[in-house]
Formats: sequence, structure tokens, C-alpha cells
Amino acid sequence: MAAKREINLTKAQLEQIKQALDERSASGLCLRCGKAGMLPMNRLMSFELQTVASAISGAVREVTVPAAMLVCPNCGHLDFHALGMIGLLQMKPGEDHVGETPERGDDK
Ligand SMILES: [Zn+2]
Repeated sequence: MAAKREINLTKAQLEQIKQALDERSASGLCLRCGKAGMLPMNRLMSFELQTVASAISGAVREVTVPAAMLVCPNCGHLDFHALGMIGLLQMKPGEDHVGETPERGDDK
């Protein structure tokens, strides 16, 4: 039997995100409606970035920015926080090989 694939964050991981944002005074009021109580969602988001090379027919080099999401329980507004910038990845954005997947387009 295949191992169950964990896709949801654990309570400990959610607490890590909350603590990191609290330490940076970044868990305050909703930017849209002004209500308190932004909640960390139990899944991560990943933003895919494209290099200039991919736009001019060069090799596609995918880079992602994993991010924590907070949702406002009043209006549903979403906030995103890059995990690397809040100290929750071992390497930070700008360092080599952060969230990179192998290059595509070299196997012709
Ligand atoms: Zn709101």
C-alpha cells in the first residue's frame, strides 16, 4: 500500500507560520475590510516565475516561490507570504536552486 501523501500543513507547521508572522508584525488586520483574525490556511501556495529566456524561446527554467496564505474570515481576502523571506525555507529567494525544478527544453 502506498504511503499517504501529506498535502495539508500540520498544526505545528501552521503555528510556525503564525509565529514567524507575529515576529514580523505581519499578522494584523485584513488589508481590505480592516477586521482582525486573519487565519493561516492549511495548504501552501506556489507562485511560478518565468525567466526572460523562456519569453524569447530559450530554455524554460521554472522557479517557484512557495508561500503561506492567510485568509480573512470576514471578507475572504487572501494574503501571501514568501516562506523563504519569513525564515521557513533553508534557502532564501535569490540564492541558487531555491525551489527550482530541472530545466526543460534541453532534450531535443
Ligand atoms: Zn477582510
